[in-house]
Amino acid sequence: MTAQHSQLEQLAQWLADSRMSVAFTGAGISTESGLAAYRTPGGVWARFEPVYFEEFLGSPRRRYDYWKQKSEAHDSFAKAKPSAGHQVLAQWETAGRLAAVITQNIDGLHQDAGSREVLELHGTARFVSCLDCDARFPAGPLVEQFLREDRVPICPECGGPSMKHATVSFGQSLPADVLDRAVEYARQCDLMLALGSSLVVHPAAGIPEMATRHGARLVIINDEPTPLDPLADLVIHEQLGPTLTAVQSCLP
Ligand code: ZN
Repeated sequence: MTAQHSQLEQLAQWLADSRMSVAFTGAGISTESGLAAYRTPGGVWARFEPVYFEEFLGSPRRRYDYWKQKSEAHDSFAKAKPSAGHQVLAQWETAGRLAAVITQNIDGLHQDAGSREVLELHGTARFVSCLDCDARFPAGPLVEQFLREDRVPICPECGGPSMKHATVSFGQSLPADVLDRAVEYARQCDLMLALGSSLVVHPAAGIPEMATRHGARLVIINDEPTPLDPLADLVIHEQLGPTLTAVQSCLP
């Protein structure tokens, strides 16, 4: 923990004074739960060729590849527990200090920690949905079925062949309703905390930038520099869990 004490106190003061604070989280908060970030060594995309949405729609073989990848990732998701960072954010929401968490993550760990207003820009790996009839199912049993039968499950509702995790694939657009609500928070908030995100994946990374354009303070906590650092009112290049825990103890 090398962040200056004055920086932690400054952030605690801004949080206490804020009319509406919003957190924007990326992979960094979940790597502290032991989940490898997608593009880092050991991450899923370092070992597999990602299946683009078009390929998923057009090719039974690529649907199978997709399920194979997702089933492998499922196990590490199922075992992961919320990090200290997830827990502090959930406490801040309960205490009325944080209005919402907008996340790029698909692991459901914010909800596990107790956060309620969670906007998942890239969807969730906790559910599978049918692209034909929109029915939605918990992912666990369907992943088990895939591993047992070694073929892509068909929809229990309509018998359709296009069962897909409720995550946003490469080449697939972000869920419009979630994006709209995130944009609304970006416009309304006066304090935006960008946490554990490299802030390079668009359009998601546009959300913190939009908040600054609408007059919000921007605080960035990430273990390495981001393109938005020059826009931020405060930048801390540290691990999230220890930093947020230290800010928590500075709160009035
Ligand atoms: Zn269906």
